[in-house]
Amino acid sequence: DLQLADRVQRIKPSPTLAVTARAAELRAAGHDVIGLGAGEPDFDTPAHIIEAAVQAAQQGQTRYTAVDGTTELKQAVIDKLQRDNQLSYEANQILVSSGAKQSLFNAMAAVLNEGDEVVIPAPYWVSYPDMALVFGAQPVFVAAGAESRFKITPEQLEQALTRKTRMVILNSPSNPTGTAYTRDELAALGAVLERHPQVVVVSDDIYEHILWRDEAFSNIAMAAPQLFERTIVVNGVSKAYAMTGWRIGYAAGPAPLIGAMKKVQSQSTSNPASISQAAALAALNGDQGCIQPMLEQFKARHDFVVERLNAMPGVSCTPCDGTFYCFPHMEEAMNRTGAEDDVAFAEQLINDAGVALVPGSAFGLPGYARISYATSMENLERAMDRLQQALGG
Ligand code: PLP
Repeated sequence: DLQLADRVQRIKPSPTLAVTARAAELRAAGHDVIGLGAGEPDFDTPAHIIEAAVQAAQQGQTRYTAVDGTTELKQAVIDKLQRDNQLSYEANQILVSSGAKQSLFNAMAAVLNEGDEVVIPAPYWVSYPDMALVFGAQPVFVAAGAESRFKITPEQLEQALTRKTRMVILNSPSNPTGTAYTRDELAALGAVLERHPQVVVVSDDIYEHILWRDEAFSNIAMAAPQLFERTIVVNGVSKAYAMTGWRIGYAAGPAPLIGAMKKVQSQSTSNPASISQAAALAALNGDQGCIQPMLEQFKARHDFVVERLNAMPGVSCTPCDGTFYCFPHMEEAMNRTGAEDDVAFAEQLINDAGVALVPGSAFGLPGYARISYATSMENLERAMDRLQQALGG
């Protein structure tokens, strides 16, 4: 038998990508499946961004760049963090990577030792626990249900922190819940973390611009400036500019930590794709007005889906602050259909109703499901009709 490393045994493939793959498989076999599993905007990348990439390719930007990104793109990231977040960074505090996902992986590679603990609020983005496990660290989950709009309290955070905690990961607005922490809530979490100086805080801001609540976006570095020196802000162009396939994300943080992350990246992928960097430069420096029409559509779809879900028997859905996900509580509906658990329920829905959604247990909160509304209104209408029928509504 071929021997594989222990670290591979500890992790599983991304369950959200698996649902998308399963839906595609059924569709290829001729079944009519509506996919509500997508983790990416259904829009095309704005034209001015594509044009910048074409020009870059034609003008010979086809070679390796600096590992941490081109000077121009790093400056655009610095300008963005100043403009949107009032955070000031130098060039040696920025690392551009092949997606925010690689930024997060680099951060964990640079910080975590075997046996360290990583505090992860649940429900969580599927990759956080598995990334921690790759490095032999232990995920410590802090559960927050619909009653707190899926947000952890300072008391819960305090209880989860131990001598071994090396990292806390915050994701706001959140995948999968669509809710976001307020500035005051982040400040209160920051007051707890202030007393634990060994902890590095990772703020995953990838949904920053897909936010429609009244209060403006904040991350913990903005709300708790005393943590700035040990916070890594992770963001990217994937979600805001409909650029998931281009693979550009970035991290900003203390120079020694960013330097260590850069060293890791230099021994794995080197620089992110040069042409994608040129596209990201156009995204960050260009007209930010291109985000608004997409945001409006996400909001309209959100309103529609949440209303429809709440009208279904045994379903209750918390309205979101942003993103393109919602996270309805479906336990009662699941029980009524006789499904053993939420995984069986999702399986049943994809097979019998032709609707693909991701079970809540994939995100650490069983009894819920994640619905992505990054698909057309027409698809959403049909999907909600099917769901309602499947649930006997
Ligand atoms: N963080 C969260 C919470 C996400 O949902 C995603 C994408 O699904 C990422 C990070 C990764 O984004 P990127 O495409 O920049 O790697």
